[in-house]
Amino acid sequence: MNAVAASAATLSGHFARKFPEMAIAWRAEEIPDPQLLVLNEPLAAELGLDTGFLRSSDGVGLLTGSRLPADATPVAQAYAGHQFGWYAPRLGDGRALLLGEVAHADGQLRDVHLKGSGRTPFGRGGDGLAVVGPMLREYLVSEAMHALGIPSTRSLAVVGTGRLVQRETVLPGAVLTRVATSHLRVGSFQYAAATGDTDLVRRLADYAITRHYPAAAEAENSYLALFQAVAAAQASLVARWMLVGFVHGVMNTDNMTISGETIDYGPCAFMDGFDPASVYSSVDETGRYAYRNQPVVAEWNLARLAESLLPLLHEDQEKAIELAVESLADFRRQYSAAWAAGMNAKLGFRGGLEDDVTWPLVEELLALMQEGHVDYTSLFRSLGKAARGQAEPARQLVPDVTAFDAWVDRWRAQSPDADAMDRVNPAYIPRNHLVEEALAAATGGDLDPLSRLLNAVTHPFDERPGLERYAVGAPEDFGTYRTFCGT
Ligand code: AMP
Ligand code: MG
Repeated sequence: MNAVAASAATLSGHFARKFPEMAIAWRAEEIPDPQLLVLNEPLAAELGLDTGFLRSSDGVGLLTGSRLPADATPVAQAYAGHQFGWYAPRLGDGRALLLGEVAHADGQLRDVHLKGSGRTPFGRGGDGLAVVGPMLREYLVSEAMHALGIPSTRSLAVVGTGRLVQRETVLPGAVLTRVATSHLRVGSFQYAAATGDTDLVRRLADYAITRHYPAAAEAENSYLALFQAVAAAQASLVARWMLVGFVHGVMNTDNMTISGETIDYGPCAFMDGFDPASVYSSVDETGRYAYRNQPVVAEWNLARLAESLLPLLHEDQEKAIELAVESLADFRRQYSAAWAAGMNAKLGFRGGLEDDVTWPLVEELLALMQEGHVDYTSLFRSLGKAARGQAEPARQLVPDVTAFDAWVDRWRAQSPDADAMDRVNPAYIPRNHLVEEALAAATGGDLDPLSRLLNAVTHPFDERPGLERYAVGAPEDFGTYRTFCGT
Protein backbone atom coordinates (compact mmCIF):
# COMPACT_ATOMS: atom_id res chain seq x y z
CA MET A 1 0.00 0.00 0.00
CA ASN A 2 1.43 3.40 -0.89
CA ALA A 3 1.65 6.34 1.51
CA VAL A 4 -1.46 8.01 0.12
CA ALA A 5 -3.62 4.92 0.42
CA ALA A 6 -2.32 4.22 3.92
CA SER A 7 -3.07 7.70 5.27
CA ALA A 8 -6.35 8.49 3.61
CA ALA A 9 -9.79 7.02 3.96
CA THR A 10 -10.81 4.74 1.11
CA LEU A 11 -12.11 6.55 -1.95
CA SER A 12 -14.68 4.20 -3.38
CA GLY A 13 -15.97 4.63 -6.91
CA HIS A 14 -19.62 3.73 -6.54
CA PHE A 15 -20.97 6.27 -9.00
CA ALA A 16 -18.17 5.62 -11.48
CA ARG A 17 -18.87 1.87 -11.43
CA LYS A 18 -22.65 2.01 -11.45
CA PHE A 19 -23.10 4.74 -14.07
CA PRO A 20 -20.49 4.39 -16.81
CA GLU A 21 -23.02 6.06 -19.17
CA MET A 22 -22.84 9.19 -17.04
CA ALA A 23 -19.17 9.28 -16.09
CA ILE A 24 -15.97 9.84 -18.04
CA ALA A 25 -12.80 8.56 -16.38
CA TRP A 26 -10.50 11.56 -16.14
CA ARG A 27 -7.50 12.84 -14.23
CA ALA A 28 -6.84 16.14 -12.54
CA GLU A 29 -4.28 18.34 -14.23
CA GLU A 30 -0.83 18.49 -12.66
CA ILE A 31 -0.38 21.52 -10.42
CA PRO A 32 2.87 23.44 -10.78
CA ASP A 33 3.18 24.84 -7.26
CA PRO A 34 0.46 23.71 -4.85
CA GLN A 35 -0.10 25.81 -1.70
CA LEU A 36 -2.71 24.75 0.84
CA LEU A 37 -4.64 27.98 1.48
CA VAL A 38 -7.29 26.70 3.83
CA LEU A 39 -8.10 23.32 5.34
CA ASN A 40 -11.32 22.44 7.16
CA GLU A 41 -9.97 20.44 10.09
CA PRO A 42 -13.32 19.60 11.73
CA LEU A 43 -14.68 18.31 8.42
CA ALA A 44 -11.50 16.31 7.78
CA ALA A 45 -11.98 14.65 11.17
CA GLU A 46 -15.60 13.78 10.36
CA LEU A 47 -14.32 12.04 7.22
CA GLY A 48 -11.63 10.16 9.09
CA LEU A 49 -8.86 12.06 7.32
CA ASP A 50 -5.72 12.88 9.23
CA THR A 51 -5.03 16.61 9.13
CA GLY A 52 -1.28 16.17 9.53
CA PHE A 53 -1.35 13.98 6.44
CA LEU A 54 -3.57 16.41 4.51
CA ARG A 55 -1.05 19.17 5.15
CA SER A 56 1.80 17.04 3.75
CA SER A 57 2.65 17.06 0.06
CA ASP A 58 0.98 13.66 -0.42
CA GLY A 59 -2.07 15.03 1.40
CA VAL A 60 -2.24 18.12 -0.81
CA GLY A 61 -1.88 15.71 -3.74
CA LEU A 62 -4.96 13.87 -2.51
CA LEU A 63 -6.85 17.15 -2.03
CA THR A 64 -6.11 18.16 -5.62
CA GLY A 65 -6.42 14.76 -7.27
CA SER A 66 -2.79 14.47 -8.35
CA ARG A 67 -1.83 11.72 -5.87
CA LEU A 68 -4.72 9.37 -5.42
CA PRO A 69 -4.84 5.84 -4.04
CA ALA A 70 -4.02 3.42 -6.88
CA ASP A 71 -7.57 2.07 -7.04
CA ALA A 72 -9.31 5.47 -7.14
CA THR A 73 -11.52 6.09 -10.19
CA PRO A 74 -11.97 9.84 -10.65
CA VAL A 75 -14.65 10.79 -13.17
CA ALA A 76 -16.25 13.82 -14.75
CA GLN A 77 -20.00 13.43 -14.23
CA ALA A 78 -22.47 14.03 -17.04
CA TYR A 79 -25.57 16.09 -16.50
CA ALA A 80 -27.93 18.28 -18.49
CA GLY A 81 -29.77 21.35 -17.30
CA HIS A 82 -32.00 24.30 -17.89
CA GLN A 83 -29.83 27.39 -17.67
CA PHE A 84 -31.94 30.53 -17.24
CA GLY A 85 -34.82 28.51 -18.67
CA TRP A 86 -32.96 27.20 -21.73
CA TYR A 87 -32.26 23.51 -21.99
CA ALA A 88 -28.63 22.43 -22.44
CA PRO A 89 -28.49 18.69 -23.15
CA ARG A 90 -24.84 18.21 -22.25
CA LEU A 91 -23.31 20.21 -19.44
CA GLY A 92 -21.41 17.97 -17.04
CA ASP A 93 -18.26 18.57 -15.03
CA GLY A 94 -16.33 20.84 -17.36
CA ARG A 95 -13.77 21.78 -14.74
CA ALA A 96 -14.61 19.37 -11.95
CA LEU A 97 -14.12 15.72 -11.00
CA LEU A 98 -15.74 13.29 -8.63
CA LEU A 99 -12.77 11.61 -6.92
CA GLY A 100 -14.99 9.01 -5.27
CA GLU A 101 -16.99 8.49 -2.10
CA VAL A 102 -15.75 8.30 1.49
CA ALA A 103 -17.50 7.21 4.67
CA HIS A 104 -18.54 10.01 7.04
CA ALA A 105 -18.64 9.53 10.81
CA ASP A 106 -22.46 9.55 10.55
CA GLY A 107 -22.28 6.28 8.59
CA GLN A 108 -23.36 7.82 5.28
CA LEU A 109 -21.22 8.28 2.20
CA ARG A 110 -19.89 11.62 1.03
CA ASP A 111 -18.72 12.54 -2.45
CA VAL A 112 -15.26 14.06 -2.61
CA HIS A 113 -15.18 16.36 -5.59
CA LEU A 114 -12.78 18.86 -7.13
CA LYS A 115 -13.58 22.17 -8.76
CA GLY A 116 -10.94 23.79 -10.95
CA SER A 117 -9.02 20.56 -11.61
CA GLY A 118 -8.56 21.09 -15.36
CA ARG A 119 -10.53 20.82 -18.56
CA THR A 120 -12.56 17.66 -19.14
CA PRO A 121 -14.42 16.45 -22.24
CA PHE A 122 -17.41 18.45 -20.88
CA GLY A 123 -15.34 21.64 -20.87
CA ARG A 124 -16.79 23.14 -24.08
CA GLY A 125 -15.18 26.58 -24.45
CA GLY A 126 -13.94 26.84 -20.86
CA ASP A 127 -10.36 26.55 -19.63
CA GLY A 128 -11.26 24.02 -16.92
CA LEU A 129 -9.73 26.20 -14.23
CA ALA A 130 -10.84 28.15 -11.20
CA VAL A 131 -9.27 31.07 -9.38
CA VAL A 132 -8.50 31.78 -5.74
CA GLY A 133 -11.22 34.38 -5.04
CA PRO A 134 -14.29 32.40 -6.15
CA MET A 135 -13.05 29.13 -4.64
CA LEU A 136 -12.46 30.78 -1.27
CA ARG A 137 -15.87 32.40 -1.68
CA GLU A 138 -17.49 28.97 -2.05
CA TYR A 139 -15.52 27.73 0.96
CA LEU A 140 -16.58 30.69 3.09
CA VAL A 141 -20.24 30.82 2.12
CA SER A 142 -20.82 27.05 2.17
CA GLU A 143 -19.28 26.77 5.63
CA ALA A 144 -21.34 29.75 6.81
CA MET A 145 -24.48 28.08 5.48
CA HIS A 146 -23.61 24.86 7.25
CA ALA A 147 -23.05 26.76 10.50
CA LEU A 148 -26.44 28.42 10.05
CA GLY A 149 -27.92 24.93 10.00
CA ILE A 150 -28.83 25.19 6.31
CA PRO A 151 -28.13 22.04 4.27
CA SER A 152 -25.13 22.65 2.04
CA THR A 153 -22.25 21.01 0.29
CA ARG A 154 -19.14 21.45 2.43
CA SER A 155 -15.65 22.66 1.66
CA LEU A 156 -12.68 20.62 2.75
CA ALA A 157 -9.85 22.70 1.33
CA VAL A 158 -8.72 25.28 -1.16
CA VAL A 159 -5.30 24.80 -2.72
CA GLY A 160 -3.61 27.54 -4.73
CA THR A 161 -2.14 26.07 -7.90
CA GLY A 162 0.62 28.57 -8.61
CA ARG A 163 -0.83 28.86 -12.10
CA LEU A 164 -2.00 32.15 -13.55
CA VAL A 165 -5.48 32.08 -15.02
CA GLN A 166 -6.85 34.53 -17.56
CA ARG A 167 -10.14 36.12 -16.51
CA GLU A 168 -10.98 39.82 -16.92
CA THR A 169 -7.46 40.13 -15.56
CA VAL A 170 -4.83 37.49 -14.85
CA LEU A 171 -5.60 35.85 -11.49
CA PRO A 172 -4.04 33.14 -9.32
CA GLY A 173 -5.51 29.67 -9.86
CA ALA A 174 -6.98 27.37 -7.19
CA VAL A 175 -8.71 24.06 -6.69
CA LEU A 176 -11.59 23.58 -4.24
CA THR A 177 -12.09 20.19 -2.60
CA ARG A 178 -15.82 19.89 -2.09
CA VAL A 179 -17.71 17.34 -0.01
CA ALA A 180 -21.39 16.57 -0.59
CA THR A 181 -23.88 13.89 0.38
CA SER A 182 -23.94 13.43 -3.40
CA HIS A 183 -23.62 15.41 -6.60
CA LEU A 184 -26.89 14.12 -8.04
CA ARG A 185 -28.72 17.07 -9.51
CA VAL A 186 -32.07 17.64 -11.17
CA GLY A 187 -29.91 17.92 -14.29
CA SER A 188 -28.53 14.40 -13.71
CA PHE A 189 -32.07 13.05 -14.10
CA GLN A 190 -32.70 15.25 -17.11
CA TYR A 191 -29.57 13.81 -18.72
CA ALA A 192 -30.60 10.23 -17.93
CA ALA A 193 -34.15 10.81 -19.19
CA ALA A 194 -32.90 12.40 -22.44
CA THR A 195 -31.01 9.21 -23.33
CA GLY A 196 -34.42 7.53 -23.64
CA ASP A 197 -33.14 4.66 -21.50
CA THR A 198 -35.79 4.25 -18.80
CA ASP A 199 -33.70 1.62 -17.09
CA LEU A 200 -30.91 4.19 -16.60
CA VAL A 201 -33.40 6.63 -15.03
CA ARG A 202 -34.63 3.83 -12.78
CA ARG A 203 -31.11 2.89 -11.69
CA LEU A 204 -30.30 6.54 -11.00
CA ALA A 205 -33.51 6.89 -8.98
CA ASP A 206 -32.66 3.72 -7.03
CA TYR A 207 -29.21 5.14 -6.32
CA ALA A 208 -30.74 8.42 -5.12
CA ILE A 209 -33.13 6.51 -2.87
CA THR A 210 -30.31 4.46 -1.37
CA ARG A 211 -28.12 7.49 -0.74
CA HIS A 212 -30.70 10.03 0.36
CA TYR A 213 -34.19 8.71 0.97
CA PRO A 214 -34.04 5.04 2.01
CA ALA A 215 -37.58 5.27 3.42
CA ALA A 216 -38.85 5.77 -0.15
CA ALA A 217 -37.81 2.18 -0.92
CA GLU A 218 -40.55 0.99 1.45
CA ALA A 219 -43.28 3.10 -0.14
CA GLU A 220 -45.93 1.63 -2.39
CA ASN A 221 -44.69 3.84 -5.25
CA SER A 222 -40.98 4.32 -4.46
CA TYR A 223 -40.30 6.73 -7.30
CA LEU A 224 -43.21 8.96 -6.42
CA ALA A 225 -41.96 8.85 -2.82
CA LEU A 226 -38.52 9.87 -4.09
CA PHE A 227 -39.97 12.82 -5.96
CA GLN A 228 -42.02 13.87 -2.93
CA ALA A 229 -38.97 13.60 -0.68
CA VAL A 230 -36.89 15.79 -3.01
CA ALA A 231 -39.71 18.33 -3.23
CA ALA A 232 -40.05 18.38 0.58
CA ALA A 233 -36.29 18.80 1.02
CA GLN A 234 -36.22 21.67 -1.47
CA ALA A 235 -39.28 23.33 0.11
CA SER A 236 -37.49 23.33 3.43
CA LEU A 237 -34.17 24.41 1.91
CA VAL A 238 -35.51 27.35 -0.06
CA ALA A 239 -37.56 28.48 2.96
CA ARG A 240 -34.30 28.50 4.94
CA TRP A 241 -32.62 30.60 2.25
CA MET A 242 -35.48 33.09 2.28
CA LEU A 243 -35.50 33.33 6.07
CA VAL A 244 -31.81 34.16 6.18
CA GLY A 245 -31.87 36.54 3.18
CA PHE A 246 -29.81 34.35 0.86
CA VAL A 247 -29.93 34.80 -2.90
CA HIS A 248 -28.46 31.78 -4.69
CA GLY A 249 -28.16 33.65 -7.97
CA VAL A 250 -28.00 30.78 -10.45
CA MET A 251 -30.78 28.30 -9.73
CA ASN A 252 -30.37 26.39 -12.97
CA THR A 253 -31.59 22.79 -12.80
CA ASP A 254 -27.98 21.58 -12.85
CA ASN A 255 -27.39 23.60 -9.69
CA MET A 256 -30.24 22.01 -7.73
CA THR A 257 -29.44 18.87 -5.79
CA ILE A 258 -31.52 15.78 -5.21
CA SER A 259 -30.26 15.69 -1.62
CA GLY A 260 -31.65 19.13 -0.75
CA GLU A 261 -28.20 20.60 -0.12
CA THR A 262 -27.34 24.05 -1.42
CA ILE A 263 -24.78 23.65 -4.22
CA ASP A 264 -22.64 25.85 -6.45
CA TYR A 265 -21.85 29.10 -4.77
CA GLY A 266 -21.21 31.30 -7.76
CA PRO A 267 -22.94 34.67 -7.88
CA CYS A 268 -24.71 34.17 -4.55
CA ALA A 269 -25.13 36.93 -1.98
CA PHE A 270 -26.84 37.72 1.30
CA MET A 271 -29.20 40.68 1.22
CA ASP A 272 -28.26 43.72 3.23
CA GLY A 273 -31.25 46.08 2.99
CA PHE A 274 -34.51 44.17 2.66
CA ASP A 275 -35.72 44.25 -0.93
CA PRO A 276 -37.60 41.24 -2.32
CA ALA A 277 -36.49 42.18 -5.84
CA SER A 278 -32.80 41.80 -4.94
CA VAL A 279 -30.64 40.41 -7.75
CA TYR A 280 -26.86 40.37 -7.50
CA SER A 281 -25.68 38.31 -10.46
CA SER A 282 -24.44 40.41 -13.35
CA VAL A 283 -25.69 37.81 -15.84
CA ASP A 284 -29.23 37.61 -14.43
CA GLU A 285 -30.50 40.50 -16.50
CA THR A 286 -34.20 39.71 -16.19
CA GLY A 287 -34.08 38.94 -12.48
CA ARG A 288 -35.20 35.34 -13.03
CA TYR A 289 -33.36 34.31 -9.87
CA ALA A 290 -34.23 37.35 -7.74
CA TYR A 291 -34.71 36.76 -4.00
CA ARG A 292 -38.51 36.69 -4.17
CA ASN A 293 -38.58 34.32 -7.19
CA GLN A 294 -36.61 31.54 -5.54
CA PRO A 295 -39.58 29.45 -4.33
CA VAL A 296 -41.27 29.63 -7.74
CA VAL A 297 -38.03 28.74 -9.51
CA ALA A 298 -37.53 25.77 -7.19
CA GLU A 299 -41.01 24.60 -8.09
CA TRP A 300 -40.26 25.07 -11.80
CA ASN A 301 -37.07 23.04 -11.42
CA LEU A 302 -38.97 20.32 -9.58
CA ALA A 303 -41.41 20.15 -12.48
CA ARG A 304 -38.38 19.37 -14.71
CA LEU A 305 -37.41 16.61 -12.29
CA ALA A 306 -40.95 15.24 -12.37
CA GLU A 307 -40.88 15.18 -16.18
CA SER A 308 -37.67 13.17 -16.07
CA LEU A 309 -39.19 10.69 -13.64
CA LEU A 310 -42.59 10.35 -15.39
CA PRO A 311 -42.01 6.87 -16.89
CA LEU A 312 -41.23 5.61 -13.38
CA LEU A 313 -44.23 7.23 -11.67
CA HIS A 314 -46.92 5.28 -13.52
CA GLU A 315 -47.10 3.21 -16.68
CA ASP A 316 -50.04 5.32 -17.85
CA GLN A 317 -48.59 8.73 -18.69
CA GLU A 318 -51.80 10.60 -17.86
CA LYS A 319 -51.80 9.03 -14.40
CA ALA A 320 -48.10 9.77 -14.00
CA ILE A 321 -48.70 13.44 -14.77
CA GLU A 322 -51.60 13.54 -12.31
CA LEU A 323 -49.38 12.14 -9.54
CA ALA A 324 -46.60 14.62 -10.31
CA VAL A 325 -48.99 17.58 -10.32
CA GLU A 326 -50.48 16.55 -6.97
CA SER A 327 -47.02 16.26 -5.44
CA LEU A 328 -45.98 19.64 -6.80
CA ALA A 329 -49.00 21.17 -5.06
CA ASP A 330 -47.59 19.74 -1.83
CA PHE A 331 -44.37 21.66 -2.48
CA ARG A 332 -46.25 24.97 -2.27
CA ARG A 333 -47.94 24.01 0.96
CA GLN A 334 -44.69 22.71 2.47
CA TYR A 335 -42.75 25.78 1.44
CA SER A 336 -45.36 28.15 2.89
CA ALA A 337 -45.57 26.19 6.12
CA ALA A 338 -41.77 26.07 6.51
CA TRP A 339 -41.45 29.78 5.81
CA ALA A 340 -44.27 30.73 8.21
CA ALA A 341 -42.86 28.51 10.97
CA GLY A 342 -39.40 29.99 10.42
CA MET A 343 -40.70 33.56 10.46
CA ASN A 344 -42.63 32.87 13.66
CA ALA A 345 -39.39 31.58 15.19
CA LYS A 346 -37.47 34.66 14.01
CA LEU A 347 -40.02 36.82 15.79
CA GLY A 348 -39.92 34.70 18.92
CA PHE A 349 -43.58 33.71 18.79
CA ARG A 350 -44.41 30.92 21.13
CA GLY A 351 -46.62 28.02 20.10
CA GLY A 352 -50.36 28.36 20.33
CA LEU A 353 -50.64 31.84 18.80
CA GLU A 354 -53.27 32.16 16.10
CA ASP A 355 -52.30 33.17 12.56
CA ASP A 356 -54.54 36.20 12.75
CA VAL A 357 -52.30 37.50 15.55
CA THR A 358 -48.90 36.62 14.08
CA TRP A 359 -49.54 37.13 10.37
CA PRO A 360 -50.34 40.89 10.45
CA LEU A 361 -47.25 41.44 12.63
CA VAL A 362 -45.06 39.61 10.13
CA GLU A 363 -46.54 41.42 7.14
CA GLU A 364 -46.30 44.85 8.75
CA LEU A 365 -42.71 44.33 9.82
CA LEU A 366 -41.65 43.21 6.35
CA ALA A 367 -43.43 46.19 4.81
CA LEU A 368 -41.65 48.56 7.20
CA MET A 369 -38.33 46.91 6.40
CA GLN A 370 -38.91 47.11 2.67
CA GLU A 371 -39.99 50.75 2.80
CA GLY A 372 -36.97 51.72 4.85
CA HIS A 373 -34.57 49.33 3.06
CA VAL A 374 -33.67 48.12 6.56
CA ASP A 375 -30.74 45.74 7.03
CA TYR A 376 -32.39 42.31 7.13
CA THR A 377 -29.92 40.44 9.32
CA SER A 378 -29.24 43.29 11.75
CA LEU A 379 -32.88 44.05 12.32
CA PHE A 380 -33.89 40.50 13.21
CA ARG A 381 -30.85 40.13 15.46
CA SER A 382 -31.59 43.41 17.23
CA LEU A 383 -35.20 42.35 17.78
CA GLY A 384 -33.81 39.84 20.28
CA LYS A 385 -32.64 42.84 22.31
CA ALA A 386 -35.95 44.62 21.73
CA ALA A 387 -37.75 41.58 23.13
CA ARG A 388 -35.73 42.14 26.33
CA GLY A 389 -36.82 45.77 26.45
CA GLN A 390 -33.80 47.33 24.70
CA ALA A 391 -35.42 48.60 21.52
CA GLU A 392 -32.82 51.27 20.74
CA PRO A 393 -30.48 49.21 18.50
CA ALA A 394 -33.46 48.14 16.37
CA ARG A 395 -34.96 51.65 16.32
CA GLN A 396 -31.72 53.02 14.90
CA LEU A 397 -32.06 50.77 11.88
CA VAL A 398 -35.61 51.81 10.91
CA PRO A 399 -36.35 55.20 9.33
CA ASP A 400 -40.03 55.27 10.31
CA VAL A 401 -39.54 55.13 14.08
CA THR A 402 -43.12 56.06 14.95
CA ALA A 403 -44.55 53.15 12.98
CA PHE A 404 -41.85 50.85 14.30
CA ASP A 405 -42.50 51.77 17.95
CA ALA A 406 -46.18 51.02 17.49
CA TRP A 407 -45.29 47.69 15.91
CA VAL A 408 -42.88 46.83 18.78
CA ASP A 409 -45.59 47.49 21.37
CA ARG A 410 -48.02 45.12 19.69
CA TRP A 411 -45.33 42.51 19.11
CA ARG A 412 -44.03 42.60 22.67
CA ALA A 413 -47.58 42.10 23.92
CA GLN A 414 -47.18 38.53 22.55
CA SER A 415 -44.21 37.96 24.95
CA PRO A 416 -41.62 36.98 22.31
CA ASP A 417 -38.98 34.50 23.47
CA ALA A 418 -35.69 36.44 23.18
CA ASP A 419 -33.40 33.46 23.79
CA ALA A 420 -35.14 31.41 21.12
CA MET A 421 -34.80 34.36 18.73
CA ASP A 422 -31.05 34.56 19.31
CA ARG A 423 -30.77 30.92 18.30
CA VAL A 424 -32.33 31.51 14.88
CA ASN A 425 -31.38 35.10 13.99
CA PRO A 426 -27.66 35.16 13.17
CA ALA A 427 -25.40 37.97 14.28
CA TYR A 428 -22.83 37.15 11.60
CA ILE A 429 -23.40 36.24 7.96
CA PRO A 430 -20.90 36.50 5.08
CA ARG A 431 -21.78 40.09 4.28
CA ASN A 432 -20.90 41.07 0.75
CA HIS A 433 -18.49 43.86 1.65
CA LEU A 434 -16.66 41.62 4.14
CA VAL A 435 -16.47 38.74 1.65
CA GLU A 436 -15.01 41.05 -1.00
CA GLU A 437 -12.51 42.48 1.47
CA ALA A 438 -11.37 39.00 2.56
CA LEU A 439 -11.10 37.66 -0.98
CA ALA A 440 -9.20 40.66 -2.27
CA ALA A 441 -6.69 40.27 0.57
CA ALA A 442 -6.40 36.51 -0.03
CA THR A 443 -5.86 37.02 -3.76
CA GLY A 444 -2.98 39.30 -2.80
CA GLY A 445 -1.57 36.66 -0.45
CA ASP A 446 -2.95 37.83 2.94
CA LEU A 447 -5.22 35.15 4.41
CA ASP A 448 -5.82 36.85 7.79
CA PRO A 449 -9.03 38.73 6.91
CA LEU A 450 -10.44 35.47 5.52
CA SER A 451 -9.66 33.53 8.65
CA ARG A 452 -11.18 36.25 10.86
CA LEU A 453 -14.34 36.31 8.77
CA LEU A 454 -14.52 32.51 8.79
CA ASN A 455 -14.26 32.56 12.56
CA ALA A 456 -17.20 34.98 12.76
CA VAL A 457 -19.52 33.26 10.29
CA THR A 458 -18.89 29.69 11.40
CA HIS A 459 -20.34 30.58 14.83
CA PRO A 460 -23.10 32.83 13.55
CA PHE A 461 -25.36 32.92 16.61
CA ASP A 462 -22.62 33.39 19.16
CA GLU A 463 -22.23 37.18 19.47
CA ARG A 464 -18.71 37.98 20.61
CA PRO A 465 -16.98 41.18 21.71
CA GLY A 466 -14.43 42.41 19.20
CA LEU A 467 -16.46 41.21 16.22
CA GLU A 468 -18.74 44.26 15.99
CA ARG A 469 -17.71 45.17 12.46
CA TYR A 470 -18.81 41.72 11.25
CA ALA A 471 -22.33 42.34 12.55
CA VAL A 472 -23.15 45.59 10.76
CA GLY A 473 -24.39 46.32 7.24
CA ALA A 474 -22.31 47.54 4.33
CA PRO A 475 -20.97 51.09 4.49
CA GLU A 476 -22.83 53.63 2.34
CA ASP A 477 -20.01 53.82 -0.18
CA PHE A 478 -20.13 50.06 -0.89
CA GLY A 479 -22.72 50.85 -3.56
CA THR A 480 -24.74 48.38 -5.62
CA TYR A 481 -23.28 44.93 -5.25
CA ARG A 482 -22.74 42.83 -8.37
CA THR A 483 -21.48 39.26 -8.52
CA PHE A 484 -20.00 37.43 -11.46
CA CYS A 485 -20.71 33.91 -12.63
CA GLY A 486 -18.52 31.18 -14.05
CA THR A 487 -15.28 32.34 -12.49
P1 AMP B 1 -21.78 26.63 -13.14
O1 AMP B 1 -22.33 27.92 -13.65
O2 AMP B 1 -20.55 26.76 -12.31
O3 AMP B 1 -22.82 25.80 -12.48
O4 AMP B 1 -21.29 25.83 -14.43
C1 AMP B 1 -22.13 25.53 -15.52
C2 AMP B 1 -21.39 24.64 -16.50
O5 AMP B 1 -20.25 25.31 -17.03
C3 AMP B 1 -20.88 23.35 -15.90
O6 AMP B 1 -21.01 22.36 -16.89
C4 AMP B 1 -19.41 23.67 -15.62
O7 AMP B 1 -18.62 22.51 -15.58
C5 AMP B 1 -19.06 24.55 -16.79
N1 AMP B 1 -17.95 25.47 -16.52
C6 AMP B 1 -17.96 26.57 -15.73
N2 AMP B 1 -16.75 27.19 -15.72
C7 AMP B 1 -15.93 26.43 -16.49
C8 AMP B 1 -14.54 26.53 -16.89
N3 AMP B 1 -13.75 27.52 -16.47
N4 AMP B 1 -14.07 25.58 -17.73
C9 AMP B 1 -14.86 24.57 -18.17
N5 AMP B 1 -16.14 24.43 -17.84
C10 AMP B 1 -16.70 25.35 -17.02
MG1 MG C 1 -23.01 24.18 -11.55
